[in-house]
Amino acid sequence: MALTGLDIYKLLPKTNCGDCKSPTCLAFAMRVAQKQASLDQCPHVTAEAKEKLGAASAPPIQLVTIGTGDAKIVIGNETVMFRHEETFHHPAGVAVTVSDELSEADIAARCDKIAKLVFERVGTRIAVDMVCVMNDSNDPAKFAAATKLVAEKCPKALVLGSENAEALKAAVAVCADKRPLLCGATAENHQAVAALAKEKNCPVVAKANGLEALADLTQKISAAGVKEIVLYAGEQGLRQTLEDLTKARRYALKKTFRPLGYPQLTCVLGNDDPMLAVLNAATFMAKYSGVIVTDMIEPWQLMPLLTVRMNIYTDPRSPIQVEAGVHRVGEPNAKSPLLVTTNFSLTYYTVEGDVESSKVPTNILVVDTEGTSVLTAWAAEKFTTDQIAKAMKKNEVEKLAPHKKIIIPGLIAVESGKLQEETGWEVVVGPKESSGIPSYLKANWGS
Ligand code: SF4
Repeated sequence: MALTGLDIYKLLPKTNCGDCKSPTCLAFAMRVAQKQASLDQCPHVTAEAKEKLGAASAPPIQLVTIGTGDAKIVIGNETVMFRHEETFHHPAGVAVTVSDELSEADIAARCDKIAKLVFERVGTRIAVDMVCVMNDSNDPAKFAAATKLVAEKCPKALVLGSENAEALKAAVAVCADKRPLLCGATAENHQAVAALAKEKNCPVVAKANGLEALADLTQKISAAGVKEIVLYAGEQGLRQTLEDLTKARRYALKKTFRPLGYPQLTCVLGNDDPMLAVLNAATFMAKYSGVIVTDMIEPWQLMPLLTVRMNIYTDPRSPIQVEAGVHRVGEPNAKSPLLVTTNFSLTYYTVEGDVESSKVPTNILVVDTEGTSVLTAWAAEKFTTDQIAKAMKKNEVEKLAPHKKIIIPGLIAVESGKLQEETGWEVVVGPKESSGIPSYLKANWGS
């Protein structure tokens, strides 16, 4: 049975020293009970208490690290079923496959293409994180050679896809320093694969059909001394996979069922319909895949998937914001327009993109609205005359725009009169939607 906060508190030092970043031992105990903190964060807890609390206070979903250095990705350690309850902490890794049956030139070309799967979205870089080398040949030597080439050509974390323990051993020998994910251990090979994972300190995928068989297998792998395990319940279609992903997460979080308390892996491979493949992968991303292995490689397929990941794994409690102040687009001069908008990333980058496409150099005054969009900020009185006038003063915009004209979003046209009175500037009402900015700027400010 799960321990309560009070049970945990009784075993803590009760000095309220704050070294665990909680104000008191009781607050820390409550966080541990809610799986929001781990016992390791208290440096003063005794060995005896650790032993008593160890199992009960471990995170319900094991943290798993794949790769090293800049290519390292960390998955698991999630604490909630729904993002709005708190946040999802560790974004799922996306692994694109490379077959060991390809020629050297084709492997190099595919690696090159994977390395270029990097995109920018609302000012953030999003990219494919892993390459999954597939042992389609079932030949250990071919698998090792392909793995070596991929490791040299592509600076990403590696997944080694083979159920052949000899092939896994040969491939790990050429990339053990990269801490690859061994995919995977089955009912038949788990002893050899778990021994290899333990010896090389690599995480391992447990592969079995269905959750019962998986729970059985993870207990054997864990008993062999491997703690970083990823679950894979097989390819079973969208409905069954989604059901298993959800059940495993529920068992781990709600029942603290340790044999399923690991991040999960899904595969989206060999789909004839490329659009459906993107939709399936996005569905698994939302609930609750920790690693997605796919043969999709086109930017138009990967960008939406990575965008979904970005949206799901941002903290709903703190919207993404850009820095308040004046942002320059192009090389604006004293005759250039001055637009004003909020510091919500999505709003800002939409406006910035539309200004860029107008090809009219422009200054954009970004007002700190605590990461809210135009109408939300206005309704919350964070983007009204007072805030805009203050931002204009603080940023000395008269030096940038001696013409003393400022363009406000059409959605807050109601502020124009008051802002004009308050600042003495000519307040121009711009388009309601950002998409109207290019034609508006070209028609009114183009040379
Ligand atoms: S670090 Fe340990 S002893 Fe100090 S306040 Fe936190 S729980 Fe208490």
